Amino acid sequence: MQKIHEFHRQSIQDKEAFWAREAQRIHWQTPFERTLDYSRPPFARWFVGGRTNLCYNAVDRWLDTQADQPALIWVSTEVEQEIVYTRADLAREVNAAAAILQEQGVVKGDRVLVYLPMIPQAAFFMLACARIGAIHSVVFGGFAAHNLAQRIDDARPRLIVSTDAGSRGGRPIAYKPLLDQAIQQSSHAPERVVLVDRGLVPMTLTAGRDLDYATLRARHLDAQVPVVWLESSEPSYVLYTSGTTGNPKGVQRDTGGYAVALCASMEYIFGGKPGDVYFSSSDVGWVVGHSYVVYGPLLNGQATVMYEGTPVRPDAAILWKIVEDHHVNALFSAPTAIRVLKKHDPALLHRHDLSSLDRIYLAGEPLDELTGKWLSEVLNKPVVDNYWQTETGWPILSAQPGVQEVPTRFGSPTFPVYGFDVRVVDETTGRDCGPNQKGVVAIEPPLPPGALSTIWGDDARFVKTYFGSFPGRMTYSTSDWGLVDDDGYWYILGRTDDVINVAGHRLGTREIEESVNTHPAVAESAVVGVADEIKGQVAVAFAVLRSQDLLSEDGAQDRLAAEIQRVIEQRNGAVARPARILFVTALPKTRSGKVLRRAIVALCERRDPGDLTTIEDPSALDQIRQAL
Ligand code: ATP
Ligand code: MG
Repeated sequence: MQKIHEFHRQSIQDKEAFWAREAQRIHWQTPFERTLDYSRPPFARWFVGGRTNLCYNAVDRWLDTQADQPALIWVSTEVEQEIVYTRADLAREVNAAAAILQEQGVVKGDRVLVYLPMIPQAAFFMLACARIGAIHSVVFGGFAAHNLAQRIDDARPRLIVSTDAGSRGGRPIAYKPLLDQAIQQSSHAPERVVLVDRGLVPMTLTAGRDLDYATLRARHLDAQVPVVWLESSEPSYVLYTSGTTGNPKGVQRDTGGYAVALCASMEYIFGGKPGDVYFSSSDVGWVVGHSYVVYGPLLNGQATVMYEGTPVRPDAAILWKIVEDHHVNALFSAPTAIRVLKKHDPALLHRHDLSSLDRIYLAGEPLDELTGKWLSEVLNKPVVDNYWQTETGWPILSAQPGVQEVPTRFGSPTFPVYGFDVRVVDETTGRDCGPNQKGVVAIEPPLPPGALSTIWGDDARFVKTYFGSFPGRMTYSTSDWGLVDDDGYWYILGRTDDVINVAGHRLGTREIEESVNTHPAVAESAVVGVADEIKGQVAVAFAVLRSQDLLSEDGAQDRLAAEIQRVIEQRNGAVARPARILFVTALPKTRSGKVLRRAIVALCERRDPGDLTTIEDPSALDQIRQAL
């Protein structure tokens, strides 16, 4: 394992030499003068004075060698359509989109809000913004009017790009009425909206404000829009975090650092090379969609698959069918999608030829040991658990097969990624923890290229939120618990705000979940801390069983609950025993697969569950209500 650790050591000890070398992966219109300026901690500026452009590097740079090769492969099982855009096609569409933006007065530094489903125009407009130096703010299509209005007011866009509707499970979901409401609710709405009419639901355009994309596109199809070269630290986009734990924060990304970091990650972490095909099933509204549907693969000369649809429609083999049809080399998905597949016929996993596929990457939430193991065994492919955040833009902890193949361990996202000086820090003393000691996962600044440069419009909040957690040191806090074992493997143990305090004992709900999940009857679970007059808090567990038949016998529920209690007692101690174990058939989750803990806790405490617009399946909440 020498090599991977040595590589990491170099990236930390001699970071300037390391990143100056990696920076050669991209085109610099003007070379940078200094690799790093860290004169104003914790604000880091990478590749100072260098001028570059994300769109040029993702599109134009590959036109000489790959004009006729696939660049963007769009697959929609929602509207049953597939379009393959070559790099030349992509260049044409992006130039047209850039010309549309310019015609509407969008200039460098202006924000453009993109509120679109998984359609190619989302990528066209993101790249078009990058081309002219405008800052995109993509808002996940699942957000409704209120969230959208909040983001409009924070980003103050010059223009919004949207559509008549998305589609989910074959049913259209109107976007336009939500957009109209949001614009009405916000105090900084733009004067112009460009609408992609998919013909899914009728939509009325507001005269003087709304413009039809197809009409504008036809007019600009042959446009050649010059690239606006940005200084490396100038912002490329703002993206709001999921808001799982609190108020979403507008993560601001730079230009040069992001390009270099993503390009390098495509090789070192994802084992990709120009010409390869990459498929991330994330929505463009999330960070994975930014980094690994749009920018990463394209920057590295790879083709990217953009998928509109669910993992189970028309059947649970659809992801594998896409892999076969398009010779996908690396697939990036989320543990939640895999848990869903686990409930379907395993034969579906063998229906397609997966010989092109090297590895499967999963991120976004903890990958439990059983799910990871199950997937790698049925597919006989390596499964790479990678841990990161919207803030970091690319993985913090991950196997790095492009550096060195190392044995992975289920339940662990392996080792720190080069560039990230990751520590486990004791929150009370502020000191580094030893092996097997639980603490907060933290990153010693300067943060590497590609990580957030600040919170949009709020430097003070950036410093306070991320660098104000530990006494006596200014270290970035991920707000996740973790530990490193004796062999140097890292484990994520849950979010710091998911810790519950039962009669003075601090317990991670995630550790209890892991124990619940080891029971063979359990498919997945959520454990939350609920206010209790006597103990302060108690744990309440919600378990989804592999099959409902398990509950059909008399007394099965009590028997199973008792068995699960025993497992928890053995693994976490009697103090961790949940006050109640309840059975449901689904957990309330966001569409990116994160369990909506806020909402579950609120229901348990008989409070209003609050904002639920990102929920995947509202009936899951009713089940929680009923179970209680
Ligand atoms: P907010 O910060 O607004 O509450 P969020 O943290 O859910 O939202 P993201 O940035 O999308 O928004 O999620 C990052 C978080 O997801 C991590 O901090 C971690 O808690 C969790 N996570 C991501 N990948 C993994 C992983 N491989 N293993 C465990 N947890 C993960
Ligand atoms: Mg977070």
